[in-house]
Amino acid sequence: MAVRPLPEVIGGAGRGYGRMVAHAQVVYDGLGLPREDGAVTVQLAPGVASVVRTSTMTEARSTYPDAQVVECGFAVSPPVVNAHTHLDLTTMSHTPGPYTGFIGAVVAHARGGHRGVTAAKLGVAELSAAGTRVIGDIVTDAATMEYLLGQDALTGVAYWEVFAPRPEDADAVFATTVQTLARFRALERRGGMRVGLSPHTPHTVSAPLLGRLAAYAAAERLPLAIHVAESPAELELHLRGSGALAESLARAGFAFAATGVRPVRYLHDLGVLAAGPTLVHGVHVDDDDARLLVRVGAVVVHCPRSNAALECGTFPWTLYAKHGVEVAFGTDSRGSSPDLDVTHDVAEALAVQGKKLNPRAALRAAVKGGYKALGMLPPRVVRGAPAADLVAWG
Ligand code: ZN
Repeated sequence: MAVRPLPEVIGGAGRGYGRMVAHAQVVYDGLGLPREDGAVTVQLAPGVASVVRTSTMTEARSTYPDAQVVECGFAVSPPVVNAHTHLDLTTMSHTPGPYTGFIGAVVAHARGGHRGVTAAKLGVAELSAAGTRVIGDIVTDAATMEYLLGQDALTGVAYWEVFAPRPEDADAVFATTVQTLARFRALERRGGMRVGLSPHTPHTVSAPLLGRLAAYAAAERLPLAIHVAESPAELELHLRGSGALAESLARAGFAFAATGVRPVRYLHDLGVLAAGPTLVHGVHVDDDDARLLVRVGAVVVHCPRSNAALECGTFPWTLYAKHGVEVAFGTDSRGSSPDLDVTHDVAEALAVQGKKLNPRAALRAAVKGGYKALGMLPPRVVRGAPAADLVAWG
């Protein structure tokens, strides 16, 4: 379901003057709520295609009865956002299986020298082919960061990942991270990607370092993202200090003592939530967690195909909706997802959630939720705007 700019889909170039109506199951202009059975009426003039209005299809038919109708499939919307991926893992083969085994496969892939800028470039090409231009990417090496900050195909946030589970390393890692981020931020360009910060998870960054990194990100207005509450094993690790994740961390020399609280509550207690982070996955949460998230306006990035592949459980869409927590979509890496086309994750969520998720909420999350997850202003496509500000999902 690769998205394409609306003018490419409706055609009409060289037709001279006239109006066309783009019809889709859901239509969104970034204002208010998406419309089901919606329409975007486009005014054509030589070399120009501009938006006249978005409406229901019934209204478009009665207002412009002579306009040609073009079917645009699931949706017409501002550009979709892939709010969570790891482009430097693009050459990793899709590795389903429980979360803890997957982490071992990622480590082995990286040790083999396959994680880095060569893979990231392939990922950028794949995103471009899918029609994606706005992303949140987790970056683990300087060459990939420099490449992302210098390219023009994408915008969004390149989050610098910090992995430092040993409390005794906290001071040194904090100092290095601050220096590294300053160097990267000097490479930011207007309209290009911004630098962000991503402490890997609550259990792979020590408590003192997590607190300091979050405070630093808040003070510097750096976008912040963290993987949290992804697998059932992570919940068991926090509540009881047992299970597959506890065992694998101990084997790696990073034993993690039970916190006695759920992972989201742990982030709250450390002051991390106060920095307004974007939370990736957020599968294992309860009402208390959702209340903490809504209080700080945190956005949760949902990666449904990755969650299914890694046996992480079903995303609690209804719980988040009940509390008004903003949700976005991401593909996660090619290691846990068959491709980087985030529209496939929207389709997966609709299939998995069934009646619990309506297409309007899913579309809003994929667009507005995505921009909010990245700390960007969600676009609004008003009357007179170029039709190229919209994409058709096909
Ligand atoms: Zn991830």
